[in-house]
Amino acid sequence: MDDYEISENIKRILYNVGEAKAKYRKSDETVRIMAVTKTVPYERVNAAVNEGITLLGENRVQEYFEKKDFYDKKAEINFIGHLQSNKIKYIIDSVTMIHSVDSVKLASEIDRYAARSGRLMDVLIEVNIGEEESKSGVLPDRLDELLGGVSELKNIRVKGLMSIPPIGKSEESFERLRRIFDDLKSAHYENTEMDILSAGMSADYVSAVKYGSNIVRIGSGIFGSRK
Ligand SMILES: *Cc1c(COP(=O)(O)O)cnc(C)c1O
Repeated sequence: MDDYEISENIKRILYNVGEAKAKYRKSDETVRIMAVTKTVPYERVNAAVNEGITLLGENRVQEYFEKKDFYDKKAEINFIGHLQSNKIKYIIDSVTMIHSVDSVKLASEIDRYAARSGRLMDVLIEVNIGEEESKSGVLPDRLDELLGGVSELKNIRVKGLMSIPPIGKSEESFERLRRIFDDLKSAHYENTEMDILSAGMSADYVSAVKYGSNIVRIGSGIFGSRK
């Protein structure tokens, strides 16, 4: 994938997101496109940043560390992958949000490192919307309990939900996720603002926008298929 193809891919995604927004969303709502960088060399990532995709999604701490110093300074980094407690210290100072919190234990560890760094860390709660054995994320019927625990932590702030639907079930999953998100908006937890719905990847972002996503996480759709 060269920079020209990356630029063309981004134009197409912006067009599709714009079209879905015009059709399904209120005019004042925004949808951010995140470039998911796993396996992608930093030069290619910077080509996407240069095209205006300034939000980057990182899955692996080690890989992120090898590339971060080479990223364009305009880039804002979110961590979106499975996060082990012993790796939090490596990312706490350079990411602006963690999308993949699915236990009070992980949240407490993030809280501890955030306190140590003197910052308030924004997090999303990852929901296992398809209730799949193989996936991380909290089950929908455990969300209330999780949010109750997480909302007691003073150095993290819950900003919304993230989810990866089962293959072939995006539409119904996004619809359900939206209902859960709206229900939680009207419940009032401490240190929680239900503003962000991180949903939709290369194959299903249009459907995610239809159901209220405001961050779509796109990897292969921008950078081509991963080897
Ligand atoms: C890899 C990944 C994506 C992007 O997947 P594509 O299908 O390549 O767009 C989005 N979110 C998460 C959590 C990922 O790991």
